[in-house]
Amino acid sequence: MPVSEYMAQANAIYYATRDPLGVAGDFITAPEISQMFGELVGLWLADLWLRSGRPADVRYVELGPGRGTLAVDALRAMKGACFAPDVHFVETSPVLRRAQKARVRDAHWHDDLTTLPSDGPLLIVANEFFDALPIRQLDAAGSELSVIMKGDRFVRTGEVETETSPVSLAIAADLSRRIAAQGGAALIVDYGHDRPGRGDTLQAVSRHAYVDPFEAPGERDLTAHVDFSALAAAAEGVRVSGPVPQGAWLDAMGLPLRAAALARAAPDRTEEINAARDRLSAPEQMGRLFKVLAFSAPQWQEPVGF
Ligand code: SAH
Repeated sequence: MPVSEYMAQANAIYYATRDPLGVAGDFITAPEISQMFGELVGLWLADLWLRSGRPADVRYVELGPGRGTLAVDALRAMKGACFAPDVHFVETSPVLRRAQKARVRDAHWHDDLTTLPSDGPLLIVANEFFDALPIRQLDAAGSELSVIMKGDRFVRTGEVETETSPVSLAIAADLSRRIAAQGGAALIVDYGHDRPGRGDTLQAVSRHAYVDPFEAPGERDLTAHVDFSALAAAAEGVRVSGPVPQGAWLDAMGLPLRAAALARAAPDRTEEINAARDRLSAPEQMGRLFKVLAFSAPQWQEPVGF
């Protein structure tokens, strides 16, 4: 089967059968590192909504919300600005849906984007969602590579020259069209590059270590670098902001101030708070590899942080 099909099937099984997040799981994400991440995302949304004249009937939409941690932190920060939108989650995993329901009881769940409300502005957040979507890998001649069985092992049929993710581009285009028509914005955060990349970025992670992506399909998290320039180019009818490095965006959003405030409130936790701040924003940690990209409706104000 094509690499894209292999990745789609393996990840469908992987996410459907476990909660992969956290220290005891396979990988950890920004909202699981610190509440500061979700809070600053919430403030970004609330600020944009306030400056755009507090439109009515806005929905908070999250793609692949994991344990719901980002949503809880973002919604709490938004509430501080008297902003309490309805919550819509796009999530395929029954295990993670249960975790989300335990944290955000009255959310609405969707299998994909097609059933999202088509009236009223949408404020959409996707953190480490696009990296899990299937990629096509092409050889130097432009032929799509496949995964085949050789003996008792899976192997790829050739050398990777380029990658594309048609599914990601279709979702980015869909998000942009909804925002252009309904108002609102989307904030996309992921690891990846801001120029079209070359070569093989498919990777597998298990218990916080890199492993062979062609071993034990369905047991390991398969991801690939997100091509932010391609996502930006797929947008139609919206303002595009970024991509900028996550560290720069978080610093512009006030991460150092938030960390200092938390440390003042809990002095015994200062070291832990500062370590989380650095993990999210230092260039040699998540600060440079991770990028932030936003789409916003032309009739809304320009977002901050870019
Ligand atoms: N955003 C969360 C979780 C990231 S893990 C965080 O930052 O912690 C990826 C998430 O995307 C999981 O919730 C996974 O179940 C979901 N997901 C993966 N592929 C998906 C798909 N095709 N459609 C909807 N959700 C998907």
